[in-house]
Amino acid sequence: MGDDGLKRKRVVLLGATGSIGCSTLEVARQLPERIELVGLSANGNVERLAAQARETGVRHVAVADPSKEAELRQRLPEGIEVHVGDEGLVELATLAEADVVLVAIVGTAGLHPALAAIESGKDLAVASKEILVMAGEVVTAAAERHGVRLLPVDSEHNAIFQCLDGHRGGDAEVSRLILTASGGPFRRTPGDELEGVSVEQALNHPTWDMGRKITIDSATLFNKGLEMIEARWLFGIGMDRIDVVVHPQSIIHSMVEFIDGSVLAQLSRTDMCFPIQYALTWPERVRGGLEPLDFTELAKLDFEPPRHDDFPAPGLARRAGLEGGTLPAVFNAANEVAVDAFVDRQISFPGIWRVVERVMDRHVLAGASSLEVVIEADAWARCQAAEACRDESCR
Ligand code: NDP
Repeated sequence: MGDDGLKRKRVVLLGATGSIGCSTLEVARQLPERIELVGLSANGNVERLAAQARETGVRHVAVADPSKEAELRQRLPEGIEVHVGDEGLVELATLAEADVVLVAIVGTAGLHPALAAIESGKDLAVASKEILVMAGEVVTAAAERHGVRLLPVDSEHNAIFQCLDGHRGGDAEVSRLILTASGGPFRRTPGDELEGVSVEQALNHPTWDMGRKITIDSATLFNKGLEMIEARWLFGIGMDRIDVVVHPQSIIHSMVEFIDGSVLAQLSRTDMCFPIQYALTWPERVRGGLEPLDFTELAKLDFEPPRHDDFPAPGLARRAGLEGGTLPAVFNAANEVAVDAFVDRQISFPGIWRVVERVMDRHVLAGASSLEVVIEADAWARCQAAEACRDESCR
């Protein structure tokens, strides 16, 4: 308990060394009465993980890459238990002393530990949107079965979560969800110039400072596509009622339109500490170290429609979400492979969506209620995408 009698959350942080992980440490530093980190994980950045373990005083750390175990042990002070590999992530996610697991592992590597956390009755704060896109049906069914909350960390979904609080009529009262998109670095780039976009240009996001994969996803608008499918699972709403509007200032983080025509929006500075703090202190609001907006400094808030012809990702996501089954897993896996291929300079920037569309077109849909089927579809899509990346007509 904190001094004011409110409960302190004990948090396991998966992906501690990444962008969201570091922001979570910043939030925890500001709120020692509210948030206690009890476990941290990394893939291979053991230098940062060890420094974080010393700072936070956690008793448990996990390293996903087994080849880094020895180096991690050397860097850690006595008395910290080291968990290793995929199994180690699951052990960390199910620690008896944790109340909440925040999963901020890039891609789908966080799926197994996330499910293990749910099965051991812990609330799941979700930054890793890919796991909900890949296995939304499995994850939400597990959360329901075990009576745990899925707390959105992604700023758009956290905004919707905040707007919906107190409107428990839910689906019946909501007419649509409106996700805002910054538009990325190529908002004004003519469609015929996108072929020449470099990796460096794509990594230069105008408003958010994030990890590499999500920055590329923001440039292609695949990030918005992934978020549309994520919203469908988090809020149980049909894909046909999830819209996207480009809002270049990234001050409004998303909106809910209700059936009476009213719209609620959530606004804050572009700092992931806001949604992380709300997810970890929910259902309370607490004073942390975050600066509110100064409206006299805001020149204006702009809105424009997405350029669907030049950026097909939201359209592909809508198709994946409407057709459902294994198609969202295929959409996600093909994108992960294509992003890596773009960063490795094997394919062009528009090659990313050409690869994804090719793989989606070839997929034979199956139901997605079992984890095995979803994992199989994911693996199939990765092979197909790797092949498409080598094909001249996709690159
Ligand atoms: P980063 O690339 O900055 O960090 C990724 C983290 O995951 C690191 O801790 C990394 O460890 C770890 N990791 C990578 N691969 C593996 C693996 N195979 N097994 C275990 N751990 C692994 O990513 P972000 O923080 O930007 O994003 C994390 C997630 O949050 C993504 O799903 C993203 O879409 C989502 N998100 C991010 C936002 C942001 O502002 N950054 C906003 C909203 C959502 P190591 O450092 O050791 O490599």
